[in-house]
Amino acid sequence: MEFEEKLLRKFSRNYEKYYPVKQLKSFGYKRYRCKSCGNFFWSVNPRDFCGEATCMGGYVFGKKLGKKSFKYFEVWEVFSRFFKKYGYVPIPRYPIVSRWYPELYFVVAGINIFQPRIINGEVEPFEYLTVERQFCVRFSDVDIVGYNPKSFSGFIMLGQHAFNTKEKKTYFKEEGIEQIHKFLTKVLGIKPEEIVYNESFWYGGGNLGPSIEFLSNGIELGNQVYIQYKLVNSNLREIENKTIDMGAGMERIAWAVSNKLTSYEVTFPYVLRKLKENL
Ligand SMILES: [Zn+2]
Repeated sequence: MEFEEKLLRKFSRNYEKYYPVKQLKSFGYKRYRCKSCGNFFWSVNPRDFCGEATCMGGYVFGKKLGKKSFKYFEVWEVFSRFFKKYGYVPIPRYPIVSRWYPELYFVVAGINIFQPRIINGEVEPFEYLTVERQFCVRFSDVDIVGYNPKSFSGFIMLGQHAFNTKEKKTYFKEEGIEQIHKFLTKVLGIKPEEIVYNESFWYGGGNLGPSIEFLSNGIELGNQVYIQYKLVNSNLREIENKTIDMGAGMERIAWAVSNKLTSYEVTFPYVLRKLKENL
């Protein structure tokens, strides 16, 4: 069995320990098993398949979620304003050349800003609660940009990060899911019935933990990771510095609450208008 599959089985077998079950239940969600991939997920209404497009038979696009809509950059404004209420501090974006992190040439996720030294506990976090809009590159997606309506060679990742150390405790799973659920439903206006939370996991830079992906219409809106282990000789060792690492594509969020067919129309409206004029 693959390492990833083993990990997901371990977390799902003991799901009450690894996932923020209390909050998900309090929002009216129930746990189901996907008839296609066999993984577990949470939904308000019963359904046969998890939120993944491959299990649902494809994703839906051009179908607006919720009643509100925001322009591309307004998403950052409402996101940062909402999280400030919980004490999160907006921080400036970092360069995309990751000089501080020798394992990577380029920043591919918001968490890279804090890797490796803050995540592994060598350095105290400069802020314990942060939100950011970090430009990330995805060279692996270059070939599919334009072939589907949602891929970019570079995009802005909205990040919510909560750090915990031996001396200072902030938020972890239950608070983290409560905050992101309220952002999705109260701020963006997406109905709870339209959101599926998939049980998942994340592994990167020697650290790992369970995660909750949030999806709608077969499209992943983001992923909230609960970093709580490091890998030592293929064994999981619990770490003191537990971290919430939530990442969501700003383009994806703005697109999901719009009625546009592609995320490019939301992200580059002026460029596309000009291109159409010159056709
Ligand atoms: Zn599935």
